[in-house]
Amino acid sequence: MAAIGIDLGGTDIKGAIVSGDGQILLQKKTATHPEEGAEGVVDRIVELAESLCITHGTQMGDTLGVGVGVPGVTRQDGTVVIAPNLDWHYVPLKQMLADRLEQTAVELDNDANVAALAEARAGAGEGCQSLALLTLGTGIGGGIIIDGRVHHGSSYSAGEIGHMVVLPDGPICGCGKAGCLEAISATRGMVDFAQAGLDNGRESTLSGTDLTPKAICDAASEGDILGRATVDHVAKYIGIAVANLINILSPNVVAIGGGISAAGNLMLDPIVASAEANTLEGMFEHTRIELACLGNDAGSIGAAYLVI
Ligand code: ZN
Repeated sequence: MAAIGIDLGGTDIKGAIVSGDGQILLQKKTATHPEEGAEGVVDRIVELAESLCITHGTQMGDTLGVGVGVPGVTRQDGTVVIAPNLDWHYVPLKQMLADRLEQTAVELDNDANVAALAEARAGAGEGCQSLALLTLGTGIGGGIIIDGRVHHGSSYSAGEIGHMVVLPDGPICGCGKAGCLEAISATRGMVDFAQAGLDNGRESTLSGTDLTPKAICDAASEGDILGRATVDHVAKYIGIAVANLINILSPNVVAIGGGISAAGNLMLDPIVASAEANTLEGMFEHTRIELACLGNDAGSIGAAYLVI
């Protein structure tokens, strides 16, 4: 039997029919229009799920259920506590969907947790019991899978790897604390590091007007010394976070995904070197550190796994 995975974002809602072994059989998307409120978004999720069933030739009641990945903080009862991109506060999303999809099961979870679940079951960690995922982008998302399931912890919010403090008294993070991994190694921190180099007169092919993680990685791959130094700086702190994850969790796999990871081995190699240098002896070789492999599909595949 197949399941429906919904990847709810601030701009688009992506949906997929996913087979029991994590293969996408059919995909569709629709605009989110969060300005129309939670009721409107629920309407569009239900319409998308129904449209997927019709095109696939399946009855909603014959699916394993509908799983939803949400860009925000969720609770066990299916309430979305806060979702900044949707401007949601305490929206009882699971109940709202269950009222409309009575024929089948409904589950939801945070989008980073859901992506980690997809990578653990059908991606970089396929066949493994435990995995930690870091998604590098404008922020750093994280999810932890233990014994094949999302680890939520006592607050239900576990897995905030981006807010691991890796540099006490370091740059201020969006969360208000100092020295979080996200403040150093997400887009803003990476660009700021390169900009500071330019401001200090370091020679580089980079220019201050078009500094992006991609431009920095491209320059690094062409031998630009400031580009290389920026990649190494960002990777060093990601590696420290990975070492902490290995020391504490000893997972089978640590997967690195998100936009910045598109640089591939250019970014992965110094992350692995830093992780090895900072992991307790005897532990490092028991964890594989790999690029995530499901890309943008991780959201809908992982959401489906909530009901598979
Ligand atoms: Zn933080």
